[in-house]
Amino acid sequence: MPKPSMSAPSASPRKPLPLASGEARARLRRRLLDWFAIHQRQLPWRANRDPYAIWISEVMLQQTQVATVIPYFQRFIKQFPNAAALASADEQEVLRAWEGLGYYRRARFLHLAAKKIVADHGGLFPEDPDSVRALPGFGRYTANAVLSQAFNAKLPILEANSRRVISRWAGIEGNLKTREAETELWKWAEDLLPQKRAGDFNQAVMELGALICKPEGPRCGDCPVQKECFAFLHDAQDRIPAKSPRPLVTEVHELALVIRRDAQVLLVQRPLGGRWGSMWEFPRTEVTGDVEQAAADLLGSIGVQATLGSELAVIHHGVTRFKIRLTCMEARWSKGMFQPGPYLKGRWIEPEQLSDFPLSRPQRRLASVLQNRQISHIS
Ligand code: SF4
Repeated sequence: MPKPSMSAPSASPRKPLPLASGEARARLRRRLLDWFAIHQRQLPWRANRDPYAIWISEVMLQQTQVATVIPYFQRFIKQFPNAAALASADEQEVLRAWEGLGYYRRARFLHLAAKKIVADHGGLFPEDPDSVRALPGFGRYTANAVLSQAFNAKLPILEANSRRVISRWAGIEGNLKTREAETELWKWAEDLLPQKRAGDFNQAVMELGALICKPEGPRCGDCPVQKECFAFLHDAQDRIPAKSPRPLVTEVHELALVIRRDAQVLLVQRPLGGRWGSMWEFPRTEVTGDVEQAAADLLGSIGVQATLGSELAVIHHGVTRFKIRLTCMEARWSKGMFQPGPYLKGRWIEPEQLSDFPLSRPQRRLASVLQNRQISHIS
């Protein structure tokens, strides 16, 4: 792996780079590791070097805040304490344990990877980087994060916090999402790694980003490596890293139908793949015209005839760049055998059984509305 050029290409060549010398980089490693030893948060996945636990935490932490992850992690590890337990679980069980964390593809990949670990590695997390990268759902970040933390492999990592921190140290200006900037960042991340304690160092960089070197208002006065930091020395914290334009938000209106037949309601399973793949929901569709027409089209697509009833709730939620308004209505089945249509399958269930099925967060909110109402029938 080539060493990074000691003057980052996007930084101004006239401005000195504090990390240009090997001594400065050694000083940074030492200071950062000393700081980490004292200031790191006590997180449940840091209790030991179990690669399985580290892997689960790393996957949960993608796109999700630490405070949200902690209770999920503790419950998940209790329910599936090792790769063998996870591999032998039903996918629906795994999705139910993941419910609320979002980005459910992560849970499906965990499950698939656990099966492969059992089938190909006797249930033990492999130490060989090629074997780890061959597991479903493992990109460069996840593989290196687990291997460096669990086995101290000298492998770099880059995620949101470390991207920001390293770009400030190295004075990488401009858009960090270009291929050149990405290559430059990986080179720096690799070059800065110590010979020993690579896992601690990787975590320390992320921890510094989480606690001190925040996107807005970094606490440089409390930073252990300010003397090694380009952004601090050149007063460039506000412009490094460059801000990305906010993604445009698209507003979407959807309809969910709680179709009742006697004391039961209809729940359908989404197709594999795509958002919320293989999870369950009340039949749902996008509303592009009026709600009645959307309801008629939805009912037609699943072969059910029903009388539309009252509005149960309007649930607002966001998914990536979509701002979704979900109108939830009751309907009373009149005739017709359920046909899967766009779904994998459907089941008529008692409302009390809703807690057995993995639902997306907005659908779980609808289920709660329903369960709180308990006996609400359309006359
Ligand atoms: S000195 Fe400031 S900008 Fe530089 S790493 Fe520390 S907190 Fe971040």
